[in-house]
Amino acid sequence: MEFNQGLYVVALTPVTLLLIIVSPAIGSFIGVLIDRLPRGEDVVAKASACRDCDTALRPMQMIPVISFIMQRGKCGICGQPFPTWIFYVELLAICAAVLAAIAGGDPIHVFLSALFLWVLIGLAGADLIWFRLPDILTAALAAVALGLAVAPGGIGIYDALLGAIFGAGSFALLRAGYFWLRGREGLGFGDVKLMVGLGAFVGPFDLPMLVLLGAVFGLLMALTDSLRNRSALKAAGPIPFGTALCAAAALLWLIN
Ligand SMILES: [Zn+2]
Repeated sequence: MEFNQGLYVVALTPVTLLLIIVSPAIGSFIGVLIDRLPRGEDVVAKASACRDCDTALRPMQMIPVISFIMQRGKCGICGQPFPTWIFYVELLAICAAVLAAIAGGDPIHVFLSALFLWVLIGLAGADLIWFRLPDILTAALAAVALGLAVAPGGIGIYDALLGAIFGAGSFALLRAGYFWLRGREGLGFGDVKLMVGLGAFVGPFDLPMLVLLGAVFGLLMALTDSLRNRSALKAAGPIPFGTALCAAAALLWLIN
């Protein structure tokens, strides 16, 4: 049975087991990256503390997913709510490892797939919350995408490089064109850098599909936003297009 085969792969590969075991901790770290990178804060040495009362979190308060539920999403000292996105990021990171494990295949491919999805979560979160795509994450995405391309079953280095050049190049042109026409920035430079990694992931042939899906997701986000604010679409604020593109890339990873 196919289902049993899938389960067999998930259960018995050391790499997949390890990925699933470390995924909650990775999710916590992605949360730290999203919270601190756009603020320019240290992501390693600085201890986790409540943003409101500055009380350092105890180990029991730093268990991914579980601590958030146990504390009902609030600081145990001052009672201020923690941002709910932290919970979803931790949950998504676990889902990413499980999905990479279910997709199976060569251990290197499984490992890089999980890594790819984790970096996507970090980028999507940072753009959604801060409208920022930290350089270190877009660089990591490009490195992982190139790794996936040359790994067994990958699209190969030439397609990856073409995808990166066409992806980033078309976005750079779009950005310059918009600026020339409207006299203001319509597309961030972070989106151009994001397209290096995303282009390298999909290659030149799936690039139009990625951009189309990203546009659909972006439009859905704008619609949701305007419905929630009960304002006209044109009056809605900027759209975190990087988040939409990351979601599109995750969907393409899922269906490929
Ligand atoms: Zn507090």
